[in-house]
Amino acid sequence: MSESKSYIEGIHNWCDRWCEHCKYTDRCMSFQMEVEAGIDPLKKDYTDEEIWTHVSKRLAEALELVRKHAVEMGIDIDNLPEVEEEPPSEKATSLKERCNTIHQSYIDRSRSFFEENKSFFKEKGHESIQWVEMGLSSEEDAVALWQKVNKQAEVIQWYTFFMGVKMQRAIKGIDDMDEDFWDGPEQSDANRTARIVMLAIDRSMAAWRVMLDTFPEKEEDIIQTLALLSRFRRIVEETFPRWAEAGPDVEW
Ligand code: SF4
Repeated sequence: MSESKSYIEGIHNWCDRWCEHCKYTDRCMSFQMEVEAGIDPLKKDYTDEEIWTHVSKRLAEALELVRKHAVEMGIDIDNLPEVEEEPPSEKATSLKERCNTIHQSYIDRSRSFFEENKSFFKEKGHESIQWVEMGLSSEEDAVALWQKVNKQAEVIQWYTFFMGVKMQRAIKGIDDMDEDFWDGPEQSDANRTARIVMLAIDRSMAAWRVMLDTFPEKEEDIIQTLALLSRFRRIVEETFPRWAEAGPDVEW
């Protein structure tokens, strides 16, 4: 891999994995490794076989890297002692349950909003065409409106599962936030992950807000969905009050 690039350390661990919209692709080691391995991270139509071949190759590389580091550190990874994993604290366990419940409700609401309103959206599409035909709206405005709706739907769908999965990871790291191996608790994996959860929630809330402005008829549903996100956000804020100080030092 090229050594001349100024990579941002670990950026791919605390990002939203939406490479298509990322302004740091040239400073992300993970992205560049894919490119150099002949994979286009922005291409969406790889066959299953191509994906699994790539995954196996990357896995083999990762194992080799681990083995190399282990040798350098004098560790025999084929004969590691049994380590008993510490059970999560009560705080982590109860947070996990609370977040799971809210997140599952959010998934259900979000999914049913798009599934149950298919004919509503279709009707709205016809309405837009009629408005253009009657000269009450320009074609450009109608196209722009539906592009905006599609874009917001894409944002909502991208983050729907992501925020819950990432929150579980943040909670998992809560018990070791004060360990010496971090540059302070605010730079722990948990806090850094919480930052990306906040980004996912805030972008989703903004997207739902646009949906609300565009489809006021769906106010009740959307407000309830926003309320769930707002509850989720409050938990993240209360649990990780210093989320905004977390690295990497980039503006998403
Ligand atoms: S940092 Fe950007 S380029 Fe790298 S994995 Fe994340 S989204 Fe993709």
